[in-house]
Amino acid sequence: MFSLPESQDITILQGEYSLSLVVLSIVIACCASYTSLSLNQRMQQNHFFHKSFWLVLASVAMGLGIWSMHFIGMSAFMLPVQMTYDTFLTAASVLPAVFASYLAFSFSSRKKKGHLSAVTAGIIMGIGISAMHYIGMAAMKMEVEYVYKPLILMASVLIAVVVSYVALFIFSSLQKFMGTQWIKILTSVLMGLAITSMHYTGMSAVIFYTDKPLDGMHGMHKMDMPLLVTGVTAGIFILLAVSGLAGLLDRYVDHRLHHYDALTLLPNQRQFEQDLKNSKTAGSLAIIHIHDLEKWVSGYGYTFGDRVIKAVGDIIDERKLRTSKVYRIEGNRFAVYHGEEHEFEKLKACMESVLSQLKKPLMIDDYRVVIEMACAISHCDKGDCDQLLANTMAVLQHSSIQYRHGVIEYDPAVHTYSFERQIVQDINRAIETNELFMVYQPKVQTGTGEVTGVEALLRWQHRVHGLISPGVFIPVLEENGKIFEVTDWVIETVFRQVSHWLDEGIEFKRVSINIPGPYVTSSRLLSVLHEGLRKYGIDSSFIELEITETSVIHDIENAITAVGRFREMGLSVALDDFGTGLSSLSYLRKIPISTIKIDKSFVDGVPLSEKDSALLRAITTLCSSLKLRVVIEGVETQEQIDFITGMIERPHIQGYYYSPPLQEGEFTDWLRERELVLKA
Ligand code: C2E
Ligand code: CA
Ligand code: CA
Repeated sequence: MFSLPESQDITILQGEYSLSLVVLSIVIACCASYTSLSLNQRMQQNHFFHKSFWLVLASVAMGLGIWSMHFIGMSAFMLPVQMTYDTFLTAASVLPAVFASYLAFSFSSRKKKGHLSAVTAGIIMGIGISAMHYIGMAAMKMEVEYVYKPLILMASVLIAVVVSYVALFIFSSLQKFMGTQWIKILTSVLMGLAITSMHYTGMSAVIFYTDKPLDGMHGMHKMDMPLLVTGVTAGIFILLAVSGLAGLLDRYVDHRLHHYDALTLLPNQRQFEQDLKNSKTAGSLAIIHIHDLEKWVSGYGYTFGDRVIKAVGDIIDERKLRTSKVYRIEGNRFAVYHGEEHEFEKLKACMESVLSQLKKPLMIDDYRVVIEMACAISHCDKGDCDQLLANTMAVLQHSSIQYRHGVIEYDPAVHTYSFERQIVQDINRAIETNELFMVYQPKVQTGTGEVTGVEALLRWQHRVHGLISPGVFIPVLEENGKIFEVTDWVIETVFRQVSHWLDEGIEFKRVSINIPGPYVTSSRLLSVLHEGLRKYGIDSSFIELEITETSVIHDIENAITAVGRFREMGLSVALDDFGTGLSSLSYLRKIPISTIKIDKSFVDGVPLSEKDSALLRAITTLCSSLKLRVVIEGVETQEQIDFITGMIERPHIQGYYYSPPLQEGEFTDWLRERELVLKA
């Protein structure tokens, strides 16, 4: 095998190479390496197909690549004799290449990568490539003999091992950068070189000779291998087809995993963003927001919450327009995108029907589920989809959304700013343009029916939001430091009104003004009050300040001082919403207030609830014994009036039973009518 026969009659034959086929063989080796490295990469990234699927596929690709390279390299080789090959050995020679690739790749893709793994992988790969080569050589049949030069043969194996090691080392240690195309190409070229350099070094280790006369040999011959070339072509074709199909399948699975919601099977947020980006028209967009999903999840568990979501998703999907697309974009949000231009009204009508269906109770696991939701909708026939999404989101982000349950259309005047920002921004204008005004609610003495006072309450007729409740805008103004100015305006307006009523001879006894918590203790309030009383020439006994229990608790010492000063001025001071704060009774004695306003919540259950009735009576008795005037707020029914009238004490009553807050003119009319009734 390694030494030439001693005979003198042997002739050494020189082979030649076809350059184009040599180049082709190198290209094939590099391409096969690239394909198998790509498949290897999928093994690292994808979780849908099992890792071993990609490992086997990568090994088959690599093995077939080595095998193809070898036989194309062989067909590039020419000798002046006829050459053919043994089919069985040729086919079998692919196996060591595939097995070696499998082992080498499993070593180099281990999680714990040591240097040893790379060395082992390099040795296995090098031996695999060499084994394939020398089995392939043994498959050759020709009329000449050959021997190997042992040193070069060993060198060929060594080259295969070393270059494989370098390539696999780069592959395993730079895997996180393998996405960078050029590193992958570099590794593939190195791997291709490992295969081809081994092959051509191995070929140079062979000495072909013959002891027959050379006369019968005419010209150079390539190997007679039409079947083999067909096999190689088919092999490469299968390789490309399999890896291509696997790639396609993988991409599809990848796409499903990343672009669809597993629960509802609807496209997800990523797909939604992509579709909006790719859309040529802006069209219309609706987003349905479920307000109370959290309630169902925390009450009945995640699985139940999932079923609620699924049921909602199904209803939306069933009822959508044919050309609309539904997405689940967040845990509690669905989007419906309608790309057709000028069909906003159609989508709006569709969403109204979806919402009316969703408002009906859903039956889930025998539970009757009533979900609360709102739908934001907008269209953008001229702008782009970014604008469309921004507009729809502005509706959802607007703080008013929590109070709404219908289809809400984007309105640039309302949704450009947050509700809070708009309130703060608009308040000065509201004062100037008379959007703010006062209403007055009378207080009536139990028993006599006499009007003993009136509370001034603020109203805001906002040009966009309509009439906003002070319960909503006062806290916003307090948080944003705007409440002092507004209170000054209230004081000024009420004083002007009082002076007007006094001039007109209208009997109102006393007007109460609500003073917000932080303003109570400020020296500015004192001077505003002094100044106002002086300016309108009003006696302080006509004015009462209502301060809330909670605001007093926060700064009790200063509150005591401030209330003392108001009382010195001759003003009455009422403690508002009594009973809603904590530790109410302990400081009742300490603060020099004149009136207690018992909160509406104490009256609501009266007289049906014995507990509430007893409590209301006890508080009234206690406060009266402290010589405080008692006002019971929020009295609405005849039964409540009867109960209160039955008490020994004579508390004052404020509530819808007598009158809701009234505008100035209505209030004076009401007063006159009442006087007539009382006189009759
Ligand atoms: P409050 O001072 O406790 O005012 C009583 C609230 O109860 C008023 O609501 C009044 O309309 C309502 N009310 C009166 N009788 C009944 C009834 O029989 N049934 C029911 N359901 N409600 C009744 P409004 O006017 O919406 O005021 C809400 C709150 O806003 C007030 O509570 C007060 O804290 C604040 N507020 C109102 N005006 C002003 C103001 O000028 N300045 C300040 N700082 N706060 C104000
Ligand atoms: Ca009040
Ligand atoms: Ca109150």
